[in-house]
Amino acid sequence: MWVTSQQATLTFFVPFHSTLRAVAKVNVVAMSTSAQSSAETDSPTTSGAAGEGTVTDRLLGLNTRYAEAFTDPGMDARPVLKVAVVACMDARLDLHRALGLELGDCHTIRNAGGVVTDDVLRSLTISQRALGTRSVILIHHTNCGMESLTEGFRQELELEVGQRPAWAVEAYSDADQDVRQSMQRVRTSPFLLHTDDVRGFVFDVTTGKLREILPAA
Ligand SMILES: [Zn+2]
Repeated sequence: MWVTSQQATLTFFVPFHSTLRAVAKVNVVAMSTSAQSSAETDSPTTSGAAGEGTVTDRLLGLNTRYAEAFTDPGMDARPVLKVAVVACMDARLDLHRALGLELGDCHTIRNAGGVVTDDVLRSLTISQRALGTRSVILIHHTNCGMESLTEGFRQELELEVGQRPAWAVEAYSDADQDVRQSMQRVRTSPFLLHTDDVRGFVFDVTTGKLREILPAA
């Protein structure tokens, strides 16, 4: 069962994050935990990176340094720019740098594809109604892994683990069209207070540029 899980995970993630081996390994670790199986063939302690311990151990070390230099910014939880950004989780997309954002400026809501799911609408609703945001920015990107998936991924999972996930994969082949659909889902949500400033973009991972997608007529 473990070998099957590992193979499925790697074939799923590696092709479109081929230069991001750490991402693939993190997902392998997650699968090994749920399968309650040894991941000795690709354990986080043998990832080939310098230093000892897991990647999490190394990041905790970096946090210690971060905290030593940290001073309380004294900020309110309400984003300064009153904006929420919904984006793909892709490791090549640095939202704060790409948009010139500072600490405290915005809410960032990320998932595979930057898809507007029910849970994203939950976060946006809380963002607007409890924390005062008014604008929504939606960002997909070029060369997204979602473009190489289909809803058949759910069936493959069901065959492997004996249970079909309740969630949709939300795969898409046309990022522009999916941005339009995402904008439409936000604009038509009955739970949101502000739907007049909802704009969508595709981020080019090779140039760093955002290309705006106009909503469907
Ligand atoms: Zn993506």
